[in-house]
Amino acid sequence: MKAFTFERAVSRQAAAMAAANSPGARFIAGGTNLLDLMKLEIETPTHLIDVNGLGLDKIEPTAEGGLRIGALVSNTALASDMRVRRDYAVLSRAIVAGASGQLRNKATTGGNLLQRTRCPYFYDTNLACNKRQPGAGCAALGGASRSLGLVGVSDTCIATNPSDMAVAMRLLDANVETLNAQGATRVIPIADFHRLPGATPHIENALTPGELITAVTLPAPTGGTHRYHKVRDRASYAFALVSIALVMQRDGTGRVAVGGVGPKPWRSAMAESLLPNGAKAVAANLLVGARPTHENAFKIPLVERTLAAVMAEARTA
Ligand code: SF4
Repeated sequence: MKAFTFERAVSRQAAAMAAANSPGARFIAGGTNLLDLMKLEIETPTHLIDVNGLGLDKIEPTAEGGLRIGALVSNTALASDMRVRRDYAVLSRAIVAGASGQLRNKATTGGNLLQRTRCPYFYDTNLACNKRQPGAGCAALGGASRSLGLVGVSDTCIATNPSDMAVAMRLLDANVETLNAQGATRVIPIADFHRLPGATPHIENALTPGELITAVTLPAPTGGTHRYHKVRDRASYAFALVSIALVMQRDGTGRVAVGGVGPKPWRSAMAESLLPNGAKAVAANLLVGARPTHENAFKIPLVERTLAAVMAEARTA
């Protein structure tokens, strides 16, 4: 691991200013992804800014009837909150589908949104990776790509976003609240938070240098039946090959978001309008323009079949 300096931020703005003034700095909260990446020297921050003491660990009601989730609320606390379990069950289900109990105790809401891909080539520093080293090439193209993406991908990167929580947040139309070094706040719709790779796969989100996530807000509850189903190679502690987040109303309308298929949680208003027509129509529309590899083309029928199963379960709930 490379040497680095460390400070405990005394205020939110001080944290943002410290990060903006030190280009090699990273915020650290739970550290469940960052520390692994530092040990492998994939992330080599020169300075760590500990944001754990900034009072961002509360879940509070909003004036609009939703919830404001502090960026430092742990994944365990969020998944077990009674308001979340009652009104946003898809979020609770998605979180407990991810990682392990120990990791969820440490991992935070903000950090979960920022976790990096689990593309195996990203983690192997002997192989080319445009995300790790811009311009180096992409060993996954033509390589082992079973777990990788087929929608929203580019000629430079086919990695997927590994977060289960983010898929549910996308389904619920969450907003990400931030603070920058000048003290300005910003609200970023979750749909715009994660970027597609294009020619710059190393730029993964909409944050500017030093911008600190302070909270994630959920709109008023959607009602309906909530489901999250994750298909993976083993029953726990594995990332999604495909995951489906679904909210279904009694009249057959609803929302659907898909994980494990692209660089961000995948959702489409047009596809959702087809929910009353069944899973085949929805999946075909959601994955229109897909660019599967020879190893991950199985994800196309897998999305349809998983969605069909989840819709059938929701109808009988
Ligand atoms: Fe790197 Fe993306 Fe290629 Fe994986 S798919 S090796 S993360 S550039």
